[in-house]
Amino acid sequence: LEAELHRLDRLNTVGEMAAAIGHEVRNPMTTVRGYLQMMLKKEYATYREQLTTMIEELDRANTIISDFLSLAKNKTAKMKKHNLNAVISALVPLLQAEALHTGHQLTINAGNVPDFVMDAKEIRQLLLNLTRNAFEAMKPGCELTITTSFANGKVVLSVRDRGKGIPQSVLDKLGTPFLTTKDNGTGLGLAVCYRIVERHGAKIDVETSPAGTTFIISFPTENFQ
Ligand code: ADP
Ligand code: MG
Repeated sequence: LEAELHRLDRLNTVGEMAAAIGHEVRNPMTTVRGYLQMMLKKEYATYREQLTTMIEELDRANTIISDFLSLAKNKTAKMKKHNLNAVISALVPLLQAEALHTGHQLTINAGNVPDFVMDAKEIRQLLLNLTRNAFEAMKPGCELTITTSFANGKVVLSVRDRGKGIPQSVLDKLGTPFLTTKDNGTGLGLAVCYRIVERHGAKIDVETSPAGTTFIISFPTENFQ
């Protein structure tokens, strides 16, 4: 047991160090991105394609760091009473823009749900990660539906897509960091979702078939901490 505790202790330190490094690496990246953007605007037009790729790759690295940081312990969690529908409403313009870009339909079915204690920033991240996967799974023209409801003391969020579904082999390992079937995927989006769900004392269910996938998250509304 002693050895096991030591091992866990060290893992925690390594995790915290990695998180700190992630933060620090971002600052120089921001500087480089700024200069690349400037060059793109000015005299380096001949390198437009290369500069654009460099910026895109920096953004990709930044996403990986963000996701990784969300996986590490959230020390600044802001647990406060909020309404899930309000978090969704605030995201709608962004989601509509994304839907327009990918040629998808977006429908929101907001039920009457009570406030509950959450970290609104994390719930926003959860919604973003789930909806992004949904858009990526669907052919243009298909519909993404976000529904909220209240039953048996739980606020239920469901994100339904009309995509190709999740094969059993992937389903079995869903939420494992770095699990991806995409050429440009990081495999961190769902791992982050599972962490957020866990931190809210919530439960995640997945219903999937070749006609589409629904992620169903049930949040307890009484204080669970
Ligand atoms: P990434 O999107 O970077 O691949 P995620 O953790 O977000 O990583 O998702 C992991 C994998 O789970 C995806 O690569 C995909 O195979 C599968 N997946 C997740 N959501 C869906 C969905 N809505 N429809 C189909 N497959 C999905
Ligand atoms: Mg994803």
